[in-house]
Amino acid sequence: MNFHILTLFPEMVSNGLNTSIIGRAVNAGLLSIEAVNIRDYAFNKHQSVDDYPYGGGAGMLMQAEPVYLAHEAVAKKILGRTGGTDSRRIRTVYLSPQGSVFDQKMAEDLAQEEDLILLCGHYEGIDERVLEEVVTDFVSIGDYVLTGGELPAMVMVDAISRLVPGVLHNDVSAEFESFQDNLLEYPQYSRPEEWHGKKVPPVLLSGHHANIEKWRREQSIIRTYERRPDLLERCELTDKEKKWFRKWLEENMKCQ
Ligand code: SAM
Repeated sequence: MNFHILTLFPEMVSNGLNTSIIGRAVNAGLLSIEAVNIRDYAFNKHQSVDDYPYGGGAGMLMQAEPVYLAHEAVAKKILGRTGGTDSRRIRTVYLSPQGSVFDQKMAEDLAQEEDLILLCGHYEGIDERVLEEVVTDFVSIGDYVLTGGELPAMVMVDAISRLVPGVLHNDVSAEFESFQDNLLEYPQYSRPEEWHGKKVPPVLLSGHHANIEKWRREQSIIRTYERRPDLLERCELTDKEKKWFRKWLEENMKCQ
């Protein structure tokens, strides 16, 4: 998968994404991450890319033309490689606190793309007119305001990349994880068997795979109930699990 990040601070995203699992995947040719400096497309000799907003107000706004030209250059390269003809079909995300909030489902959807353009705003954002022309998706990483779209773009690249086949050494590890089926992941333990007087749950040492799976599923349900009850409402439990969970609730409510 190929990520193309349009930014005023290319070194920030390049430095942030060249280590560990993502860095290794890039070196292995499973991913490419291109950081495109929007300033290279400034159309004045001072290479300035921002200006005052019409109507007044605090701060500066990134101008439409450099963003448009940077997007056009990247789109041209992608179309040249893929043989496509319509740049409006290339998925282009504008990172914005006004977007839909990024989640695992969105990561799964975007991981299907061969190319993804991520547009990072800075200052007070970007002139609306170019957003209308190039953006296909508006995405926020949460209900708070950051100084720029670079960290959100890095969050997205990380979450999407680990869904690309081969990026995680063990593809199974992306298979059952938090948010799959709207459940959080079960608790996990490694060696030693006892630490600070706490023992690893015996079922995990039993070697009985069916019992381990059952225990993990139940722990996922309990954990989701305790930490993210909003998710549990959207989770599909079997009749047997519903019965077990009702019983668990009765027993545990009594203890409180
Ligand atoms: N004036 C804008 C508004 O109120 O919607 C906020 C601009 S913010 C200071 C500058 C840039 O940071 C935005 O253009 C966007 O790219 C990025 N940004 C800030 N918060 C974000 C968030 N929660 N998710 C995604 N991007 C964000």
